[in-house]
Amino acid sequence: MNKREFIKLTSLAGVAALSGPLSSLAVPVTSAKTSSDDPKAPFVVPPLPYAYDALEPYIDKMTMELHHDKHHGAYVKNLNEAIKGTPFATLSLEEILHKVTTADKDKGIRNNGGGHYNHSLFWTLLSPKKTTPSDKLKAAITKDFGSFEKFQEKFNDAGKTQFGSGWAWLIVGPGKKLSVINTPNQDNPLMHNIVKEKGTPILALDVWEHAYYLKYQNKRPDYINAFWNVVNWDEVEKRYNNA
Ligand code: MN
Repeated sequence: MNKREFIKLTSLAGVAALSGPLSSLAVPVTSAKTSSDDPKAPFVVPPLPYAYDALEPYIDKMTMELHHDKHHGAYVKNLNEAIKGTPFATLSLEEILHKVTTADKDKGIRNNGGGHYNHSLFWTLLSPKKTTPSDKLKAAITKDFGSFEKFQEKFNDAGKTQFGSGWAWLIVGPGKKLSVINTPNQDNPLMHNIVKEKGTPILALDVWEHAYYLKYQNKRPDYINAFWNVVNWDEVEKRYNNA
C-alpha cells in the first residue's frame, strides 16, 4: 500500500469504524485488508452515530428515519445486487468508486455505490454536539477562500445551484488545496472517471429533496442555512488532517 492509498483508507476508517459492531462487514479471509479499513461486499448501512431526533430542530426525526433506514438502506441493497457477478464484486467501496465509469453497464453501481459512500460519510459529518472549526482549519479555509464567510457563501451556492438532486462538497486536492464543488445525483469526488475535480471529501451536504422536503418543502436555502448548526467540525478537521 503506498502513502496515498493509506491516506485514502484512513480517511474512510472514520466511516467504517461506525460499522464496527456489524459482523456482516467482515471481509473475506483472503483479503489483506481488515474490516476497519475500507468495507467490502456485502455492504451494510452503518448505524447512525446519534438518535434520529438528535438534530432537531434543524433536521427532523422523520426525515432522519426515512433518510437513513429507507433511502440509504435502498442504496446498500441495490449496490449489493448491482455488483453481483461483476468485476466490482471483490473490490472495496473506495476501489469501486475509483473505477466506476459513465458507461450504461456501470449505472447501478455508480448510483448506488455513490449513494452508500455519500450517506455513510454524511451521517458522520453531522452532530447534535456544538462544534467549531479549529484555528488551524479556519486558517486553511481563509487561505483558499479569502474568509470563512466567503467559504460558507460558496458552499451554500454550490448547494443551491445544484440543479435537481445532488451534493455540495468541500474537498482537499493536491497540495492540501481546498475547493468547493457540487455533483449531480450520487456522484462524488472519488469517482475519478466521472467528476471534473477530484479530491478527498471532508464536508458534504445532501441536497436531494428527500433530505429536507418534509420540514423545508421547496425552501432548500433554509435547509442549507440550518445545516451549519449541526456540522461536526471535529470530523471535518480529522478528515482534513488525514487528507
Ligand atoms: Mn440522501
